[in-house]
Amino acid sequence: MKCKEQREMKDMQIVITARGGYMAKGKCVKCGCGMCKILSKDQAEALKKKK
Ligand SMILES: [Zn+2]
Repeated sequence: MKCKEQREMKDMQIVITARGGYMAKGKCVKCGCGMCKILSKDQAEALKKKK
């Protein structure tokens, strides 16, 4: 069962899509289902810096 709402993500990884966009891939903290989220470049860079 997948959560429909956006939840906290764990094991998050920033990936670059074929189109050159940024995406966060991770797992739902609640049920462990795979989820991804489109990021703007700014968001992606901010997340990368956190690591
Ligand atoms: Zn879930």
